[in-house]
This record gives sequence, structure tokens and C-alpha cells, in this order.
Amino acid sequence: RVRTHLELRRQKRTIQESFNKLQKLEEVRDSLVHMIVHDMRTPLTIIAGYIDLLSNYNQEQLDEHHKEVYDTIRAQAAILIEMSSAILDVSKMEAGLMKLHTTRANLHKTIQDVLDSFGSLRGERQLIFDDPDTPFFFKCDHHLISRVVLNLINNALKYTPDKGTIKVTIENRDNSIIIGIQDNGMGIPEEYRDKIFDKFSQVELRAHKKKFSSGLGLTFCKMAVEAHGGRIWVTSELGVGSEFWFELPKIE
Ligand code: ADP
Repeated sequence: RVRTHLELRRQKRTIQESFNKLQKLEEVRDSLVHMIVHDMRTPLTIIAGYIDLLSNYNQEQLDEHHKEVYDTIRAQAAILIEMSSAILDVSKMEAGLMKLHTTRANLHKTIQDVLDSFGSLRGERQLIFDDPDTPFFFKCDHHLISRVVLNLINNALKYTPDKGTIKVTIENRDNSIIIGIQDNGMGIPEEYRDKIFDKFSQVELRAHKKKFSSGLGLTFCKMAVEAHGGRIWVTSELGVGSEFWFELPKIE
């Protein structure tokens, strides 16, 4: 018995050592990712700026096809910038260093601007937003919330086939609002519906496809919404579509 107990203690120590090593490795990986992404963002922002400049400069000479090409480059560069911002912000929020800059502004406009930014990237898919013309003043960090909506619409576009429909709604409640982004895409298997909000988590079958994705978009959304004291969740049916919802409390 003594020998068995000694052996158990030895094994426990080995497990603890392996765990510590893994934790260290994870820290090294995180700081490496942080460093690479941070350094990548500056040239990316410059590229995006020059694309804007070029397309404005050549506006009259461009035919429809070239306009579409510019739109696609611009939208893809915006997605890359958004991805790198999400990676940097997730580590900032994890370290408790993210500050909210709340203002009372027109939330309808914030959302409409995000929808407009997709340009031709939406393809033949329809982006529908209820009631964009009536101003709806709401206090939150508008920059952060517009990035949450951008991430959710970007996912909806990624996982919805051509001719699909993506619908954005706002429900105004007494003490909160609920924003919904609904698509009629492939849906999410039940066992993944909680996991997809975790860092680097993707629905397994799709992770093998060489789609450019970080698995951080929803982690960022969850953290940004929770930083507002809100919550985010998904309802989905395989082959029918997914509905992402987030609730934000009304603050004075
Ligand atoms: P990414 O899209 O970069 O992989 P996200 O954190 O945004 O990372 O999403 C995690 C995973 O959740 C995605 O890889 C995808 O499998 C799944 N997912 C997210 N949104 C949708 C959606 N609208 N329809 C189907 N699957 C989705």
C-alpha cells in the first residue's frame, strides 16, 4: 500500500509539472500571436487606406467590374483588420485592460453603417434591417458594438449560401434591448452552440476547410457584450439557419 501511495504521489507531481509546462507554452503562444498580429496591423491599415485613396482617385475611370474589385479588396482588408483587432482586444480584455467609451448615439445608424460597409461582399445575399430611418438613441460603446455586429454579420455571410437572407432586428424592452442577427445558412450542431464562444473554437467539420478564420470572432463578441453587463447566445437549427442574439442593459 505504501508503494502504491508513493507511486500515486509521483504521478500526481508529474501531471502537475506537465500542466505547468503547458500553461507556460500557452502564455508564450499568446504573446507570440499578440506580437505578430500587432506588427501586422500597421501595414494592413496602410494598405486599406491606400485602397480607399486609389478607388476615390479613379472613381470616374472605373467600370462596374473594377468597382466591384475595389469593393472586394476593401471589404477583405477590413475583415483582416477586424480579425487582428479582435485578437488584440481579446487579450486586452482578458488582462482587464479594456475600457468602455460609452456615448449616447443613434444605434440604428451605427448598425446601418456596418451593413453598408459590406458592399459587394454580400453577393446575392440579402441584408435586411428593420426600421433604419427612425433614430434610436442608445448609450453604449458604439465602436465596440458596431464591431460585434460586424463580426456576427460577417459570420452569417460566411456560413450562408448565395441567395440567402440575413436579417438584423432590434427589440426595445423596458430595461434592455435585444439585437438579433438571423441567417438561413447551414446552422450549428447542438453540441457546439456553447463551445463556439470559447477562444479558438470552431465547429470541427469546418475547421478542416481552408477558410481564413481565427475562431476568435465570437469570443470577442462575448467579451464585448459582457463588458457592457449584457449576454449573448445562439439558437440554431441544422440546415435551417442560426440566430445570434445579444442583450444590452439600458444605462443612464
Ligand atoms: P471564425 O468564424 O473566425 O472561425 P468565430 O468565433 O466567429 O470564428 O466563430 C466560431 C465558429 O462558429 C465558426 O468557425 C463556425 O463554425 C461557427 N459559426 C459562427 N457563426 C455561424 C453562423 N452564422 N452559421 C454557422 N456557423 C457559425
